[in-house]
Amino acid sequence: MADFEQKPKRPATGNGPRTPRRAPKAPLAGKAPGAPMAKAPQPAAPMAKAPAPAAPGTNTPAARPRRNYFPRRPRGQAPAANNGTPAPQIRIYPLGGLGEVGKNITLLECGGDMILVDCGCVFPDNEMYGIDLVIPDFTFVEQNISRIRGLLITHGHEDHIGSIPYLLKKVKLPIYATKLTCGLIRNKLEEFGLAGSTKFVEILPRHKVRLGCFTVEPIHVNHSIPDAVAFAIESPAGVVIMTGDFKIDYTALSGGVTDLSTLAEYGQRGVLALLSDSTNAERPGFTATEQKVVESLRGLFARARNKRIIIATFASNLNRVQQIIDLAVEDGRKVAFSGRSMVNNTEMAMELGYMHIPEGTQIDIEQLSKYPPEKVVLITTGSQGEPLSALSRMAQNSHRNVRVGPGDFIIISANPIPGNEKSVTKIVNGLLLLGADVIYESMYDVHVSGHACQEEEKLILTLTRPQFFMPVHGEYKQLKRHALTAASLGIPETNILIAENGSQVILSRDGIQLGEPVQAGAVMVDGLGVGDVGNVVMRDRKHLSEDGLVIVIATVNSADGTILAGPDLVSRGFVYVRENEQLMDGAKEIVESTFSHCLEEHTHDWNSVKTRVREALSSYIYRKTKRSPMILPILMEV
Ligand SMILES: [Zn+2]
Ligand SMILES: [Zn+2]
Repeated sequence: MADFEQKPKRPATGNGPRTPRRAPKAPLAGKAPGAPMAKAPQPAAPMAKAPAPAAPGTNTPAARPRRNYFPRRPRGQAPAANNGTPAPQIRIYPLGGLGEVGKNITLLECGGDMILVDCGCVFPDNEMYGIDLVIPDFTFVEQNISRIRGLLITHGHEDHIGSIPYLLKKVKLPIYATKLTCGLIRNKLEEFGLAGSTKFVEILPRHKVRLGCFTVEPIHVNHSIPDAVAFAIESPAGVVIMTGDFKIDYTALSGGVTDLSTLAEYGQRGVLALLSDSTNAERPGFTATEQKVVESLRGLFARARNKRIIIATFASNLNRVQQIIDLAVEDGRKVAFSGRSMVNNTEMAMELGYMHIPEGTQIDIEQLSKYPPEKVVLITTGSQGEPLSALSRMAQNSHRNVRVGPGDFIIISANPIPGNEKSVTKIVNGLLLLGADVIYESMYDVHVSGHACQEEEKLILTLTRPQFFMPVHGEYKQLKRHALTAASLGIPETNILIAENGSQVILSRDGIQLGEPVQAGAVMVDGLGVGDVGNVVMRDRKHLSEDGLVIVIATVNSADGTILAGPDLVSRGFVYVRENEQLMDGAKEIVESTFSHCLEEHTHDWNSVKTRVREALSSYIYRKTKRSPMILPILMEV
């Protein structure tokens, strides 16, 4: 927070303050999630010039003079509002990725044309019992499909491509992505039988593509997967830059540093809005270069000496995998791969030329035992403690080909994603118990993040000099921190907007405001079911997982309501029946007496009988055990 409070008096750029040619308008500012949406008069109405409430939580000393850093008119364009006609508008609909890390998807609209940027998924949290995947709600996309000119993808991570198959099952859209990203998407679509029917357009950094009234220029950025791009999106309303996931690595392992000069060019020409990655917004400084990891790994290879090396990392971090291969070659070791995604990704990357393994270096995992331990490196998945991953199986001593022991030197070259710490710890414990050396987390700089820290975020803000700024890709606290970073550079709080999933952000050179929100949200995928698991099902799963189930079965005479067979009680996940016979006998008596009461009262409505049984049994069980299992009475009439 310190750098926000000690604001410099002047902009931190070398450009110096600028004189605005027209008075800055006061747009509607960002708002906290949960607060009601600001209502635009009509979606198509000219910009409201409402007095601006301060951005949430930003401290705005009343007397602080507004600096002249923003806004300014892009060069070579006519003043917008001079003749009284409103400036053209662009609408941005973030449908995912705000207030969360994952399922990034953003729709942009201008002049009747729309483009969709990214289509990611998110993995379920511990509260989502049995859910495989969470995808965005596509309703708004489906409603507007006739106007959407294409789906642009920034890079091949799951939180940007993971939902594409689910979208393409509903609608047809051409996909615009770089070569490697196309390859990863194609692999994914093949599993769903959608690869053949989907049109792919391979894009290249610095090569513009036209989509309706939009002209999009992909810009090379560094990230933890090769071939990642940002997008400079030109529209009649102005240029919007979406960074996608990025960092700035001056000594990147492949592809060179993030294309700062192109970003600066757009800054010179005038950028209407910047939407920038906020994942590491809370971290000061710079993200370290991948070279640091290389040095660190080289040192560890030396330390491993006569041991077998097993390295776990993200299968998508192809640069890291390549570096490990290079080190193995340097050290005279063969390389084997383990884990389906690791095998698939490296195969595809080699085919597309993103990876190179010298002839004779790669061996099959089954041949591993034929080589002395100091002659092999095994590269595997499972760095996040995924329970079914190869590394997890090794830790449980149940891997088909690999037995871990004191002769192993294991490196986990990735930090646990928040939420995965426990499972990673479990694996580390398992491997240590088997006698292996284990290097993990921040022990030896064996991992650097793929996302920009504060100083990198500042550099992007300074180069692109946007009139408006929207932090994206992160939880609210990260978005908020990124907003403060932008404000510390002199972007007026009123020009910074923290939107949320479903916001309609209306932008023009005259201002930024929120329109009517649109439908957005999370859809849960369980097996083949998409969206059929709702709140009720989830509540039942939670109940079952916490207290178990008691089923009461009885056969009753439909004529007089007498019990012909039973009642029998079956329990699952509640108590072990054989050790609790007394309790179950008591429960049976309660059920029987409830039946006879109903009989005396001539209650023949089976639903109310069931309710009474449920209530009586529930209170009995609670009295005896202080537990509330789900109770399911089943009455069979004969
Ligand atoms: Zn990413
Ligand atoms: Zn991402």
